[in-house]
Amino acid sequence: MRVVLAASGFAVAFALGCSGCGGTGEASVPPPPGNEPGSDVTPGTPSPGPGSPSPSPSPSPAPTSTGTTPAPPAGPPAALSCLAQLYVGTPVASSSATAGAWSLRLPDMTELAWDDAKTKTYDDRLATPDLEDTLAMPYLLGTIKPITVVDDDPGRIRSDALLKATFGGTSAAVQAKLVSVDFVGQQVKFHTRAAAALGKVSVRLKQLIAQTPSLSVYVTGELGGTFEWRPIANTNRLSAHSYGIAIDIVVSKSNYWEWEKTANGPLVWKNQIPQAIVDAFEAEGFAWGGRWYHYDTMHFEYRPELFAAACKP
Ligand SMILES: [Zn+2]
Repeated sequence: MRVVLAASGFAVAFALGCSGCGGTGEASVPPPPGNEPGSDVTPGTPSPGPGSPSPSPSPSPAPTSTGTTPAPPAGPPAALSCLAQLYVGTPVASSSATAGAWSLRLPDMTELAWDDAKTKTYDDRLATPDLEDTLAMPYLLGTIKPITVVDDDPGRIRSDALLKATFGGTSAAVQAKLVSVDFVGQQVKFHTRAAAALGKVSVRLKQLIAQTPSLSVYVTGELGGTFEWRPIANTNRLSAHSYGIAIDIVVSKSNYWEWEKTANGPLVWKNQIPQAIVDAFEAEGFAWGGRWYHYDTMHFEYRPELFAAACKP
């Protein structure tokens, strides 16, 4: 059992889809990365256009001569359409799966299942998620709280296939898409699709530091880094850093579950990162590793789908 809403109205507003609104109260969904200024075109082949055989429900199917009315194909799940807006691919009726199943067809024509209908453990979902699994845990905003529910890791389940298709499938492919971003006075490399969002975080952080100079120690000086093509420690899954969409802030003031786990017993959540720093990142679509049972409090990654109301399955 988990508490769904944090106490503040701020959190509720975000849960209802106010990501990116900050103090301006504007758009409810972050703009698709590909639509942001300076972002690149989709890697690989273009997504199929409107003329592709993407199914759409017939608005008013005529009754047949036998008097039966075939059920129109249902449209894709709204959350799948939302995901397709923020990444690459087109929702399609699955070509090989159960009738009524949906997939995301990637630019290379492979299909990722929306719901593979398998019963999975948490480790199964980490290793072989369907797209719905990647969105299933609600990401909660608001007051920082210890995470005590085992495996409560919203955003930690990722589809590597979708991330590779969107950001690059090899180290060289991702590196070709990296651009320099001013991050609170330091130039860091970030994927061009996420660079504008990181730049907006930087603007917020500079404003914060102007008001509260003591916050500078968390985001200036020696950072943990951004792009690095590497697996997550002790796994064969790629880190979000591999795609140039993650940044680790100050390591010396951070806590990471792998450093502090014991042979037995549950993890004990720890954090030293202030609320205002976390809020600045989350306002621009970055998920924070401090919201995870498997905590990694220096870590922020650009995951706009976790903040978009329309992407909730
Ligand atoms: Zn990290």
